[in-house]
Amino acid sequence: MQLTVIGTGYLGAVHAACMADLGHDVLGVDVDAAKIEKLAAGQTPFFEPGLPAVLARALASGNLRFSTSLEEAGAHGEVHFICVGTPQQAGSQAADMQFVDAVVDGLAPHLRPGSLVVGKSTVPVGTAARIVSRIAELTPPGSGVEVAWNPEFLREGFAVHDTMTPDRLVVGVQSEWAERQLRAVYAAALEAGTPWVKADLTTAELVKVSANAFLATKISFINAMAEICEEIGGDVHTLAEALGHDARIGRRFLSAGLGFGGGCLPKDIRAFSARAKELGLGQSVAFLDAVDEINLRCRDRVMSAARDLVGGTFTDRRVAVLGAAFKPNSDDVRDSPALHVARALIEAGADVRIHDPEATENARSILSAADYTTDVLKAVEGSDVVLHLTEWQDYRDLDPTALAGLTRTPRLLDARNALDVHRWRSAGWAVHTLGRPLV
Ligand code: NAD
Repeated sequence: MQLTVIGTGYLGAVHAACMADLGHDVLGVDVDAAKIEKLAAGQTPFFEPGLPAVLARALASGNLRFSTSLEEAGAHGEVHFICVGTPQQAGSQAADMQFVDAVVDGLAPHLRPGSLVVGKSTVPVGTAARIVSRIAELTPPGSGVEVAWNPEFLREGFAVHDTMTPDRLVVGVQSEWAERQLRAVYAAALEAGTPWVKADLTTAELVKVSANAFLATKISFINAMAEICEEIGGDVHTLAEALGHDARIGRRFLSAGLGFGGGCLPKDIRAFSARAKELGLGQSVAFLDAVDEINLRCRDRVMSAARDLVGGTFTDRRVAVLGAAFKPNSDDVRDSPALHVARALIEAGADVRIHDPEATENARSILSAADYTTDVLKAVEGSDVVLHLTEWQDYRDLDPTALAGLTRTPRLLDARNALDVHRWRSAGWAVHTLGRPLV
């Protein structure tokens, strides 16, 4: 099919490359000319495992091209995927819809009769209905253009896998024709048995924000239990293990630590809460404000534990920060808990050196006051405390014995509860993890 993917960031670049790799004729479109130039040359503008190979294959097949022109997009596509960003608005909890609106306004006059405009961006409920009206205003009567919603659930770090083999496909459609078009787009996944959930536009929008609200709630639940454990002398790890054996609860997303961040969960729960308030339904999701507060308190708890570990002050203290990305296998630093802590450490007077396997360049662009290194040994050298803030495999593979000799004092705060505590302690480290009383 002739597809366009508008917005070629973390979501759109992967979607465009994968759809082309599956045999569709795809045009990727973005306003960022430098990004488009890179993608057209086969260079991925961000770190995503597996994407370079898919992009190279798709370009070589001739199925994938890139452009900055919405006019070209209109001429090319029978199905258009809107994948632009919906960040948090400055000074508000609500989503900033200017990028989605700009695409709709820019694309509508160029749409071919009978084309389908499919939203993939995560949006406040009611956006699709608004776009239906806007497109009706901007296209000639009887043009047969329809709008559908197809929320995306990919995880950065596993984006290619999740796009090629999603655990479900959700489509909000207004007609059987629109559903048939989307079934044709996703024929390969459907043949492999991927569950297909057909919904109305509103429900499809709601699926995405409620999925993120649920995941965020589960993470904040266990982090609230960690706060309690720290005060009363419990052990949140044993607690999570015991809870996780209950099939109704499950162990996933029940690891206490520094909490969630990134370009999705934090802004999505805030936007959901803001939209619910607009609709007079604020009470129904009032718990999301508590979820957000618990999550942000994780960062404060890490600061306070780190301060205790270095003797009550950060002045003249060297802190090694392991991790800058909001999660491993990504270079995305949007609302990264690790960088939030790093910034707070600097503000508190610490001398901070940050290591990350992939994200140092992105981190430097938003936190220039820190010292960065791509050599983890250099980060740890001369430190008074090591903070493990993003759980890359690289850090699990470190040799704690070799590292201990490099520090001023071998102290570790494992804020992701991902390192082998016994191994580090046997190598002479004082180790503290969240959710247990401070050692
Ligand atoms: P991103 O910031 O990486 O990418 C957005 C892209 O849109 C940028 O390249 C930007 O230049 C481009 N853009 C902005 N205005 C444009 C316009 N008028 N025309 C064409 N392109 C334009 O964001 P992202 O992480 O890819 O997220 C995009 C959307 O997908 C968001 O709504 C997000 O919530 C949702 N989402 C993201 C993920 C994820 O893991 N990143 C997963 C599921 C859903």
